[in-house]
Amino acid sequence: MARLVMKFGGTSVANVERIRNVARHVKREVDAGAEVAVVVSAMSGKTNELVAWCREAAPVYDPAEYDAVVASGELVTAGLLAIVLKDMGLNARSWQGWQIPLATDAAHGAARIESVDGARIIAGFAKGEIAVVAGFQGVHAETGQVTTLGRGGSDTSAVALAAALHADRCDIYTDVDGVYTTDPRVVPRAQRLDRVSFEEMLEMASLGAKVLQVRSVEVAMVHNVRTYVRSSFDDPADPRLGTLICDEEDIVEKQVVTGIAFSRDEAQLTLRKVADKPGVAAAIFGPLAEANINVDMIIQVVSDDAATTDITFTVPGAEFDRAKALLESRRDKIGYTALQGTPDVVKISAIGIGMRSHSGVAARAFKALAEKGINIRAITTSEIKFSMLIDEAYTELAVRTLHTLYGLDVKA
Ligand code: ADP
Ligand code: ASP
Ligand code: MG
Repeated sequence: MARLVMKFGGTSVANVERIRNVARHVKREVDAGAEVAVVVSAMSGKTNELVAWCREAAPVYDPAEYDAVVASGELVTAGLLAIVLKDMGLNARSWQGWQIPLATDAAHGAARIESVDGARIIAGFAKGEIAVVAGFQGVHAETGQVTTLGRGGSDTSAVALAAALHADRCDIYTDVDGVYTTDPRVVPRAQRLDRVSFEEMLEMASLGAKVLQVRSVEVAMVHNVRTYVRSSFDDPADPRLGTLICDEEDIVEKQVVTGIAFSRDEAQLTLRKVADKPGVAAAIFGPLAEANINVDMIIQVVSDDAATTDITFTVPGAEFDRAKALLESRRDKIGYTALQGTPDVVKISAIGIGMRSHSGVAARAFKALAEKGINIRAITTSEIKFSMLIDEAYTELAVRTLHTLYGLDVKA
C-alpha cells in the first residue's frame, strides 16, 4: 500500500472553499488505496497578520510567545480540513506539532527539527485514519513550549514527516504547477522543470526562490525523500505530477544554467577608507557575527590613496538598521571616514550544475547587464552558481535578460 505525505500551502487553504478542494485531492489518493498524512499551512496572509500583532503588542517580545501566537494559524486549517474530510465521509483527525510529537531545538522562530515520532500517526493509518498535521510547528521537549520552523516552514514539516513515516512520496501542493526556471510571476516565459537536482534546488531556495523552504530541500536530500512540487489548482480528478526534486544522476539533459533566482531581502553597507592593515576585517565582521547578523557578499577595494581600502558587504534587509547602528557605534575602533548604505538592492543569481564544467558563464552575464546599462555593485561565485548585487529598480530587467541569455525562455 502506498504511503503519501501531501502538503498544501497558504493560498491552497485560503478559505473553506479551497479547503474543500484540498479535501478532494486527499480523497483521490485515499480512494486509490494510499495511507495519507496531510500537512497544512495557515490561510494565506494569516501568519503575516499574527506576526504584525506580536510587533504591535511590544517592540521587543519573547520569541517563545511569538511562536505561541504564530503557530495558531496552522491549528485552524488542520482542524478545518479534518472537519471537511469527515463531512465527506472520510476518517480523519488533526494533529498539532506537540501531539505527534515533532520535536525541535529551542531556537524559537527558526527551530530545527530534532526528531519526528511517526508511531501514533502510523497507528492511525492502521485504523484507516487520515492524519491532518499542522505544519510549521513543533515542540521543545525540555520546556514543552511550542516552536516554529521559520517562514515557509510547513515544507520542512512535510518532508521531515515523510522521512519519519517512510512515505513513498512527499507532494508539495502550491499555487504554481512546479519549479520553474525562475519565478513565473516575474517572467511569464519561465519554463516548468520536470526535474531539478537537490543541489540546484538548495541553491535556488537559498538565493530567493521561495517555492520551497531551504531546510525542506536539505531534509529531502539527506533522507532521500521523493519530493514533487505540484499545483493544488489542478483538477483533483486529473492532476499533473509537477517537478521532481532528485539526484543529479537522474537528470538526463544537464543545462549549464538551470535557473535564475533573486532576493530583494538584501541591504548593502560600505565603509570608506578603512586602514589597510591586519585585524580590520575582524574588527568589522566580528561584532556583526556576535550580534547574529549574517554577512553575505564582501568586497574590498583599494581606495584612491592606495593606503586605505573601501569595504562593501551585504546583510539581510531586515538587519540593515541594526548593522548600521552597530558600525556607527564602533566607528573609533574600526576607523573609517564614511559609512554608506542602501536597502534598495537585489541579489540576482544564476544556478546550474553545468557550471562545474563550463567556463565564462558569469562573464556573459556581466556583458549582457552592461549592455542594458545595469551597474553591478558586487559579485560572488561558487561551484554551481554566481550572484550579482544590483539596484532594486532593475530587478525584472536583469532577471529577464539573464533568462533569455541562457536560453531558458519558453520557445514561442
Ligand atoms: P505556499 O504558500 O504554497 O507555500 P509559496 O508562496 O511559499 O507557496 O511558494 C510558491 C511561490 O513561489 C509561487 O507562487 C512563485 O511566485 C514563487 N516562486 C519563486 N521562484 C519560483 C520558481 N523558480 N519556481 C516556482 N515558483 C517560484
Ligand atoms: N504559515 C507559515 C508562513 O507563512 C509557514 C508556511 O506557510 O509554510 O511562513
Ligand atoms: Mg511556502
